[in-house]
Amino acid sequence: MKCKRCRRAEAAVDLPSHHAAFCPDCFFLFFRRQVTEGIRKLRLLAPGDRVLVCVSGGKDSLVLWDVLMDEGYETEGLFIDLGIDGYSDRSKEKVLAYAASRGKTPIVVELAKEGIPIPEAARCVRMQECSVCGTVKRYFFNRVAAEGKFTVVATGHNLDDETARLLGNLLHWQRGHLARQHPLLPGEEGGLVRKVKPLWRVSEVETAAYGFLKGIDYVTEECPMSEDATSLVYKEALSRIEDRMPGTRIVFYQGFLDPSNPLRKGPEAAPIPEEAPMADALRVTDVEAEGDTGTPRACAACGAPTYTETCSFCRLKERIRKARSMRTARGSR
Ligand code: SF4
Ligand code: ZN
Repeated sequence: MKCKRCRRAEAAVDLPSHHAAFCPDCFFLFFRRQVTEGIRKLRLLAPGDRVLVCVSGGKDSLVLWDVLMDEGYETEGLFIDLGIDGYSDRSKEKVLAYAASRGKTPIVVELAKEGIPIPEAARCVRMQECSVCGTVKRYFFNRVAAEGKFTVVATGHNLDDETARLLGNLLHWQRGHLARQHPLLPGEEGGLVRKVKPLWRVSEVETAAYGFLKGIDYVTEECPMSEDATSLVYKEALSRIEDRMPGTRIVFYQGFLDPSNPLRKGPEAAPIPEEAPMADALRVTDVEAEGDTGTPRACAACGAPTYTETCSFCRLKERIRKARSMRTARGSR
């Protein structure tokens, strides 16, 4: 089959949802246009932005970084080493290798050195790994952004991620989450940085094809903590629908984002700085549980922006500290 755009080269990527098939060069153009159009439509980024790109070693975040650099944005990568045996090392290797290939050195936060490797911390406080991970990552996104004077944090969530989250929120009528789900979470005075998802218009398959054809080497294994994630069930269901009715995903999500949709307020109307991580989409975050609105203040313990006396990260650290000292006390008896 010939490329539908140039009509000369052989097509390498078939995109039923766009009734198109492209050769690699035309696909690169198409993909980048989808991303820049997504940025322009929702005004996710401005030319002078300093963008902190959160890179996990997976395809989405590395592709995001690649596209943003090619589009001329000023970017740095942030890798958070979660302290997950084997997986974190392999992910870090990919991030460092990719960054080096573009002449970059990413910022690396090692949670083991911070005293909160995710698996051990979650066991300590008897919480799900993804809940702990979400709180910790949000904290470091804000902290690193503030320290490095970044104006915006970008994550690699794609159309599949966003529609899976939307389906989950709808099935459970999570009205609070629905009101705030958006590729743009505005920043707030008090140190909460703007967060954006520039890949919201491109699917997982398209992102994987872009990474593969560009020769970006990424970790293909899923985070081992994600095995029970309900979001995977929603993704699977949506994939089956998409296979039968190509284009359904983007129609579903764009319809949801329509400003006239009564289920959600615009990001301007309902600024909320934090959100649950992908695998944690259905749980009520402590931010929501506290029903916080208004302007954040400084955490009494660490100075990070929060709506309560101490931030969720400091409260988590305190719980871990208590659990560890009880364990030590039991062990010495
Ligand atoms: Fe963190 Fe995602 Fe792994 Fe859960 S699945 S522990 S949120 S990286
Ligand atoms: Zn704090």
